[in-house]
Amino acid sequence: MEKPPLKIPNFIVLTLTPLLALILVPWYAFTVGFDAFAWGVFAFYMAATGLAVTAGYHRLWSHRAYEAHWTLRLWHAVWGACAMQNTILHWCADHRQHHRFVDDNDRDPYSAPKGFWHSHVGWIIRKQNNFTDDFANVKDLQRDPIVRWQHKYYLPLTIFTNAGVPLALGWWHGQLWGALLLAGLVRLVLNHHFTFFINSLAHMWGRQTYTDANTARDNGLIAFFTYGEGYHNYHHLFQWDYRNGVRWWQFDPTKWVIRLCSWLGLASQLRRPPVVQIEKARLSMQLKRALEQLEHATEPDAWRTRLEEAHRQFLAALEEFTHFRQELRLARQQFQEHLDRDRQEVKRRYAELRGELARQRQAWRLLLAELSGMELARVRA
Ligand SMILES: [Zn+2]
Ligand SMILES: [Zn+2]
Repeated sequence: MEKPPLKIPNFIVLTLTPLLALILVPWYAFTVGFDAFAWGVFAFYMAATGLAVTAGYHRLWSHRAYEAHWTLRLWHAVWGACAMQNTILHWCADHRQHHRFVDDNDRDPYSAPKGFWHSHVGWIIRKQNNFTDDFANVKDLQRDPIVRWQHKYYLPLTIFTNAGVPLALGWWHGQLWGALLLAGLVRLVLNHHFTFFINSLAHMWGRQTYTDANTARDNGLIAFFTYGEGYHNYHHLFQWDYRNGVRWWQFDPTKWVIRLCSWLGLASQLRRPPVVQIEKARLSMQLKRALEQLEHATEPDAWRTRLEEAHRQFLAALEEFTHFRQELRLARQQFQEHLDRDRQEVKRRYAELRGELARQRQAWRLLLAELSGMELARVRA
């Protein structure tokens, strides 16, 4: 089959930047050397651009997993442009298409069954079917003026953040090229491929903890490089959860940052499914695997009965427990509301009585003053 034609600008960026990094960075390291300042700018850029893609492009805009204050949206829009993975609109249109038609070679833009190379980078550098070019699946995002602004000024924004800012910082610091090479170039290459891993490796290596309906995998090692996005099997089942690493110990800095932003008042309405739904999915996968093992077991029928019975009882206990906990939470909330109302009533009454006391005291004093004034007048007379 003949390959689709190359997308020249994408091809140039994606081949030239790693090549330049491989040549220029070692050369500069040997001849001049990178100082702590350059490494500091690099670290900031890694965090800002990586999180703009995961917390911004992915979880906020593609999946609407939470709401963000305009300052946070602006921040992610600017650093997202710096990541050079196309505009919010393009990225999210592709990504929503990916979730909707996952593994469908004709409709998933980075369908994993087409192979590592295609899902990693091939889909970007070759012209594909243009099913998302009309932005029909991102109409909600087009209403956001920040998203429209980023789409319009994408090119100047990428140039400004990738070259302008590091050069200005380097010039100010007295070492012109260090920050540009590390924060501009190396960071860009790393950030590109770390993100691409989510489309390639996270659909190949790892466990299918929650579903085997698609190729997505949970992989802690990939999560480490992708700011928490390696828990991709979970993500494909509960895509609007603001977390990807759903268990507290799973490495998901993106979810920690989103939660931090919510404490700071920058993010709200963080969405997550009920625990029982998540556990149900996990248990049904475990049951499925266990039943598959029965092929080699002695007395498979007895085992099947035991497994299914234990699974049923476990689920029943889980449901009852979560239901009870939910009721408890609700009761506690109602009690608190009641208490708050009472407290407010007490405060109001206290203020009312104190006001009345002050008014009576004032009246009393005025009366006494009036009386002494009268007496004074009489004495004078
Ligand atoms: Zn995926
Ligand atoms: Zn997603």
